[in-house]
Amino acid sequence: MPVFFIAAPQIDNRTLTITGPLLDHLRKSLRVTVGEEVWVADERRHRYLLRITSITPRELIGHIADETQGPTRSHPRVVLGQAVLKGDRMDWVIQKATELGVSAIAPLISQRVIARPRAERVRAQVDRWQRIALEAAQQSECWDVPIIEPPVELASWLSSTTSAHKLILSERSEGASLMMITIPTDPDSDVVLAVGPEGGWSESDHEMAHASRWTPVTLGSRILRAETAAIVAVTLLQNRLGELG
Ligand code: SAH
Repeated sequence: MPVFFIAAPQIDNRTLTITGPLLDHLRKSLRVTVGEEVWVADERRHRYLLRITSITPRELIGHIADETQGPTRSHPRVVLGQAVLKGDRMDWVIQKATELGVSAIAPLISQRVIARPRAERVRAQVDRWQRIALEAAQQSECWDVPIIEPPVELASWLSSTTSAHKLILSERSEGASLMMITIPTDPDSDVVLAVGPEGGWSESDHEMAHASRWTPVTLGSRILRAETAAIVAVTLLQNRLGELG
């Protein structure tokens, strides 16, 4: 059962009111009716089970039948920097990476990116990606929705990322195996992963990463498509971090 995110819950006397796009989704797409139950969650990992008592085009009112607090984070965060991919491939990576529990996704503009977001469309594009992440997080009953950052030039992202665990997935270099590198255990730390575009990283992308002390890592001798590489890498990492499997 999906868990729907709400921004700031309006609660009064154990009833919770839902308006806006979530109301429309529940009414028009899911056609929920009085007496049904839905789970909603706020940004502080608190979930409420609502028994719907009234639903109109203006608002849905539910009685809080149960509530639960999510666990505190016990594993490091995974942040994915993904060079922007063409067509619906970027949407796919955002959806799957969300299902796998990444905390944030930074769309990167590297030298060989084909689908450069146009300046006037950036805002709408990020909103759309954020909606994809929201829907995937709801469907997967995640406790958090990953943040989709605005697209950023690779050079500035590589040099400004401060994590102690910065990994760049390198398709044709002598990188260390993702399964062998040292990973953190402290839940307040993070692992940041950079994945290239369809055409791979350029020589100068590699040089910049090296200069900013990124560790090249490999997934083996097969050259995977960018979207496959991203999902495989996040899967392996989340497994090693104890979040998956
Ligand atoms: N067309 C390019 C390959 C691009 S693969 C070529 O022929 O060289 C796209 C991205 O996926 C790469 O930049 C890298 O980040 C990742 N990737 C693919 N296969 C990989 C592998 N075996 N190990 C590590 N990263 C890989």
